[in-house]
Amino acid sequence: MTNSSLGIVYHRQPYEEVDVDGKIEFRENKSPNGVVPALKGFFGSVDKGCWIAWKQSEQEGVANFDQRIEIDDSFGQYEVFRIPMTAKQVKSFYHITSKEALWPILHSFPWMFNYDAVDWETFRQVNKQFADAAIEQAADDAIIWVHDYNLWLVPSYIRQKKPDARIAFFHHTPFPSADVFNILPWREEIVDSLLCCDLLGFHIPRYAENFAGVARALRGVELGERVKVGAPFVDQGAALSEPTVVQNIHHQGRTITLDAWPIGTNPRMINEHLSDFDAGQKVFEIRNEIGNQKLLVSVGRVDYVKGSKQLLEGYDRLLTRRPELKSKIKLFLVCVAPAMNTDAYRNAQEEVERLVGAVNGKHGNLTWTPIMLSTRPVPFKELVCYYRAADVCWTPPLRDGLNLVAKEFVAAQNGEPGALVLSEFAGAAAELPDAVMTNPYSHDDMDRAIDLALDMPLDERRARMDRLRKNVETWDVHYWADHVMGKFKALRQGFAQEKANQKAA
Ligand code: UDP
Repeated sequence: MTNSSLGIVYHRQPYEEVDVDGKIEFRENKSPNGVVPALKGFFGSVDKGCWIAWKQSEQEGVANFDQRIEIDDSFGQYEVFRIPMTAKQVKSFYHITSKEALWPILHSFPWMFNYDAVDWETFRQVNKQFADAAIEQAADDAIIWVHDYNLWLVPSYIRQKKPDARIAFFHHTPFPSADVFNILPWREEIVDSLLCCDLLGFHIPRYAENFAGVARALRGVELGERVKVGAPFVDQGAALSEPTVVQNIHHQGRTITLDAWPIGTNPRMINEHLSDFDAGQKVFEIRNEIGNQKLLVSVGRVDYVKGSKQLLEGYDRLLTRRPELKSKIKLFLVCVAPAMNTDAYRNAQEEVERLVGAVNGKHGNLTWTPIMLSTRPVPFKELVCYYRAADVCWTPPLRDGLNLVAKEFVAAQNGEPGALVLSEFAGAAAELPDAVMTNPYSHDDMDRAIDLALDMPLDERRARMDRLRKNVETWDVHYWADHVMGKFKALRQGFAQEKANQKAA
């Protein structure tokens, strides 16, 4: 047993493993953005940290690699414990159960829910392996911080073996309403596990409220104090707004703290990249190439929840409705092909490629291609150059836990007067009211929003962008980390108090 004071349980490893002449080197992720660096940042504030992830192995339960390794990178020193998982387990646990069954429900796409292929026993087994590893690595008074729905059952397995453990959980996805969540045949087991946590974090109040509603309906939990929702959230009138949010849940003699705070981006880091000579050169090249056309960017993974189909149909309608825009506008669409070889994702990618071909064929000519599609990932340092050079960032997911791209675009504009068109159903919409909001389920509304963004007078664009930038810079990734550390501190104090009370009794 090691004695880490913070154990982060996240399915992916926190670095890139590179084979250099037969010797494995562990390097920091090439991509400096996203959730992994945000989480690694926590290791800077604890005595000893450990990260628990899986790594592919030939034989079930047998690691043909060092399970425990020490990492020393710019985030500090920490251990990584790797759980061996076979390709068959990964397929069942991650590609099938997580992505084909849980993901569509979390995003309120019940018609995409694929029950038949699920092997729930494997999902349990894998979650149990993560729980056992966390117990093994964490000191008695450690906080074990579990991440995301594919590890939903970890809290209950930890609690069974270690009743005094301090368990925190963060949901990176939306949490749906009871009407949709209850479609999951394993709903009670999942909710019982989440009720084993001490702290349950979500991006926005709506998701915390949805969870509270589910827990009340399924387990009759008692809801605690309710407070008014304040900055950075919009408290009424928006698709994802909530005027109040419940603070805690009481269940079987325990209190579960609910927290709603969105991950931020890192505007300082983004603008440091952009101040590099090479980045300046790249922005200049992009603008030069685009000439007097308007550049629209849209960035995401291939996923039916991301609204790529709605975006491409909207772009087709735009060029049909306003033919004068031909040769005066270009869409750079980054739609990164998924590693997963499942029907749903294959179909989503084929649909994007077919629609791009159709729009380019219908509206383009020898000298003008309306859409430039990249299905390869664009390195982050290059991506921010496109964000800076763009006139419009068009982000219309049908449903999205948060959407970091929207925040990165605002940060990278750094005072340029670009327009952000953002779906009302992306978590980030609850904190970025100055975006041009759009409803991707409505053709009329998609058309209204893109017209508004393209035709918006400079003054209004500037005013909106100034306010967006203020939000993104204030509620950045460091603010989120401080907020979470504050919650951890309260958790530790609460436990210390409880122990003292027990001793005194
Ligand atoms: N991203 C990237 N290169 C790409 C496409 C995306 O670096 O070609 C990054 C993007 O900058 C963002 C992240 O991937 O930081 C996607 O996060 P988001 O919250 O928008 O969506 P998710 O994929 O988590 O649903």
